[in-house]
Amino acid sequence: MYKRIDGKEVSSYIKNQVKIEVEKLAEQGVEVSLAVIIVGNNPASRVYVNNKKKACEATGIISHEYALSEETSEAELLNLINKLNSDEKINGILCQLPLPEHIDEKKVIEAISPMKDVDCFHAVNVGKLWLGEYEFAACTPMGVMLLLDYYGIDVEGKNCVIIGRSNIVGKPMASLLLEKSATVTVCHSRTQNLSFFTKNADIVIAAVGKAKFVTADMIKEGAVVIDVGINRDENGKLCGDVDFENVKEKASYITPVPGGCGPMTIAVLMKNTLAAAKNQNNI
Ligand code: NAP
Repeated sequence: MYKRIDGKEVSSYIKNQVKIEVEKLAEQGVEVSLAVIIVGNNPASRVYVNNKKKACEATGIISHEYALSEETSEAELLNLINKLNSDEKINGILCQLPLPEHIDEKKVIEAISPMKDVDCFHAVNVGKLWLGEYEFAACTPMGVMLLLDYYGIDVEGKNCVIIGRSNIVGKPMASLLLEKSATVTVCHSRTQNLSFFTKNADIVIAAVGKAKFVTADMIKEGAVVIDVGINRDENGKLCGDVDFENVKEKASYITPVPGGCGPMTIAVLMKNTLAAAKNQNNI
């Protein structure tokens, strides 16, 4: 019998913890704030930004939205980031990706002060993550770690297989699992005989971006299955990278989509913004 990992429950718990700390800081006269930049009219980005604003409201974090037009130049965006970097009232800066094609995402990521880079995309923070000396970690992978921890799933010595090697999910996921002494394998599109790896895994983390890509025959009996994917199925319904209905019969624990990793990403963003504010105020 599998157990469904409830990301809504865990994210509410994390956000509540953040709220308590934000209130304590407010009593000391310290406000916590996040600047959210959105460029253009991407509807998915708008949904994400709105959800982040809602989470700020729920935790007492002050959010400042900078909604810029599609035509905004790279120089204008970099100029805004520079201003926010030196604004003492702003603790975290998030620039919603993807950006319009004429803007170099890499330049934008590197322009954000590492101290305010609450997404943990800056090279300095990526390096600190791999050194285990980080103030905050990439939101989605850290969300997965918090889910595992909440359900008492110990990763030490476990055979963990990550499918996907992106900078925002797969690679930082590997770093966090390794830090907790898991044995980590990272698979990707060039991996030969993917099932060989997944079938031997105690914990499978799917971050592929392909609907129902992980099927029951790829999973060993009793495995923990974490689904990071957010896709649409053939009927336009939201689904993950895992064929949930069939895989759940073999899994010991499994995350649903929606309601699994998604809410955790935003909860960790709040946690990171709080950590940035504490750092900047030497608390
Ligand atoms: P991405 O940058 O497109 O990376 C996908 C990875 O999957 C790549 O490393 C790719 O390998 C690998 N891959 C593709 N086809 C494969 C195959 N046939 N076999 C094995 N590996 C394969 O995607 P991402 O940004 O990491 O996101 C992954 C998924 O997570 C997406 O559905 C995204 O929407 C979702 N996501 C969710 C959250 C959340 O909050 N829950 C946050 C971020 C992303 P190569 O490197 O070789 O191309």
